[in-house]
Amino acid sequence: MTSLGWEWLSQFGLADRQRKIITEPTIIGLLIMSEQDRETVIEPSDVGGEGPPVEEKPYKIIYEANLCFGAGRCAEASDNWELDISTGLAKPQSYYISTDELDENIRAAELCPAKKGDGIIHIIDRRTDEELAPDPHGDGTLSVEW
Ligand code: SF4
Repeated sequence: MTSLGWEWLSQFGLADRQRKIITEPTIIGLLIMSEQDRETVIEPSDVGGEGPPVEEKPYKIIYEANLCFGAGRCAEASDNWELDISTGLAKPQSYYISTDELDENIRAAELCPAKKGDGIIHIIDRRTDEELAPDPHGDGTLSVEW
């Protein structure tokens, strides 16, 4: 894990216990969460670094890489997604996307069959901090399973 990853974890007091892997622009984090930690609400803007200017890349991806099983639907839908031959898992070429790239990444998020169809590719509007897709709750809240 990068030092930034540890800094990110410690800012939420995430320590010791439940394991989750989050892949994010600068973080491949192994999260260890307590019961108390699970009650902490994590907003999309809490995840990751500063990134490029919002005007250039208004959207970002939060990806639950640990739940990918390599179905490849994302790669069929978007050039931003590819299967890593060494791991058999998908990864995005970029975590920050422009308006032109939005539709194909939304398709990838909506087609992803992981988590019983809820999906593990989360497309976030950085201006409103809302999840645009897959948005299984229908309210724009981040649907990551922490
Ligand atoms: S569609 Fe979902 S489960 Fe399938 S490879 Fe892409 S991210 Fe992984």
